[in-house]
Amino acid sequence: MNGDIYIPCWNCGMKSSLETFLNHCSGYWSLLKTVHHTCPGCGSGSYVQFLMGEVRIGYTYAAGTVHFSPEETIDVPELERHTLENGISVCFHDRTWTFTPSDE
Ligand SMILES: [Zn+2]
Repeated sequence: MNGDIYIPCWNCGMKSSLETFLNHCSGYWSLLKTVHHTCPGCGSGSYVQFLMGEVRIGYTYAAGTVHFSPEETIDVPELERHTLENGISVCFHDRTWTFTPSDE
């Protein structure tokens, strides 16, 4: 079982490994439980939710209140998501990424 996971950019189609993808995520939006991803290929942004075993990529929109709309769900069985006091941590292949709310 090879655990390499590739996530395509919805805009330019560039495929990033999950590690690369995580390296380009920042800022945790606690209201929607999303982080923001900037594509290293084209610079376009998207919103991402990390769940236990699952990555959801989509966009946000306002309809009265703000919502997250997942466009794509990718199964990542090895992915772990932990809730921190101030943000989340995501564990994958012995590495951990921590996301906390950005100041703005
Ligand atoms: Zn792109």
